[in-house]
Order: sequence, then C-alpha cells, then structure tokens
Amino acid sequence: MRDLKGRTLVVASHNAGKLREFADLLGPFGIDAKSAKEFGLPEPDETGTTFEENAYIKAFAAASATGLPAMSDDSGLVVDALDGQPGVYTANWAEKADGTRDFMMAMEKTEKLLQERGATDPEARTGRFVAVICLAWPDGEAEYFRGEAEGHLVWPPRGTSGFGYDPVFLPVGHTRSFGEMAAEEKHGWKPGQPDALSHRARAFQKFARACLGSA
Ligand code: IMP
Repeated sequence: MRDLKGRTLVVASHNAGKLREFADLLGPFGIDAKSAKEFGLPEPDETGTTFEENAYIKAFAAASATGLPAMSDDSGLVVDALDGQPGVYTANWAEKADGTRDFMMAMEKTEKLLQERGATDPEARTGRFVAVICLAWPDGEAEYFRGEAEGHLVWPPRGTSGFGYDPVFLPVGHTRSFGEMAAEEKHGWKPGQPDALSHRARAFQKFARACLGSA
C-alpha cells in the first residue's frame, strides 16, 4: 500500500455525476484531486466483463498517461429478476444512436423487462447498485474497493436529484429513492462515521480507510 498523502490524485472519470460525488467524498481529506477531463485524457473503451476489469482499464489508462496515481469507479445496477442485468452494461443501456445518453430511456427499458417478467411486487424487484473503486499506479500496481447498496426498483421514477438510475432505486430501510435524497443523505457518510449508504460511498469508505488514513 503506497501513501497518497501530499500527492495529486487523478479521478479517472468523465461522468459529471460521479465527479461531483467524488469531489464531495474527497473534500474532507484535502487531497489535490484532478479529473481525467482536466488532463484532456480520452475515455478508454470499457472492454471488461466485470466491474473490476473496467475500473482497472480506466484507472490505469489515466495513471500511465499522467504518471500519477489515479482512481476510477466502475459501477452499475444489478437487478435480480433480470439475471443481473444491466450490470456492467448499465451505462450502455442509456446510449442513443447519436452517442448521447438518455437515462429516462434506460429506466423505461428496465421497467419494461421487469413488467414482461411479471415482477410487480417489491420483493420481485430487488437489486443493488455496485461500485468498484480501483486505485492504480503508473507501474500497473492496483488495489480494489467494492461497495454495494441493496434495494428495490420503483416505478414511476421518484425525484430529480443525483444522476443515472437514482430515481428508480429505493434503498433498503428507506422511504425515499436516491433521486429524492440530497447528496449528503445518499452518501450517508462523513469521515469518522460508521456506515455509508450509497454503493459509491461504501467503496470510498474502504478506500479512505486503506489509503487516506481515515478512521
Ligand atoms: P460506468 O461505471 O461508467 O460504466 O457507468 C455506470 C452507470 O451506472 C452510470 O452511467 C449510471 O447510469 C449508473 N450508476 C452508477 N452509479 C450510480 C448512482 O449512484 N446512481 C445512479 N446511477 C448510477
């Protein structure tokens, strides 16, 4: 495990929603974080078949291009009634023919498949958001931190906060979807507090404990 203190860390993402969440999460640690976008790095093709493989592709591409340690997040929604789909292809389900992304379309596609499989009761609509953070170094060394948030899918979408599939995801033990939560409530975590809520904050909590000296 190499120390990140006092170093510049590249956040290897072009996704505005993820970058905002990582800025919130990294804020208290005073890390000098810069996004891959700020370095003008291209987005590598995510050719892996697991969250870990795709997280490594993104983090290592940024680390080798900049000579700096880089962290990435590969994440997605795993729906039990859909045999784990969309999973690592969660972002792809939102892709339109012109290359832009439409998450309303992706949420509708997910809902249509759930309806086709007769999954109407909450217990038939369970799933989880998964996030794998990879910290990669220019020499190829890498570490992984996984976070999962259990819940079920609701329809119609609820709320306008967050990004991606947030409006259709109701985390276990809550009455409001991620789309109805402010960022702080969705993360559910600050340094020194025990339990994060979102998959990204849970993965980040492990990363912060291992690499940033967090309690
Ligand atoms: P990727 O990690 O770039 O492959 O993209 C993962 C996709 O999963 C994102 O584009 C979102 O659609 C979805 N996703 C991941 N995390 C979240 C989240 O916290 N809220 C809502 N959607 C998410």
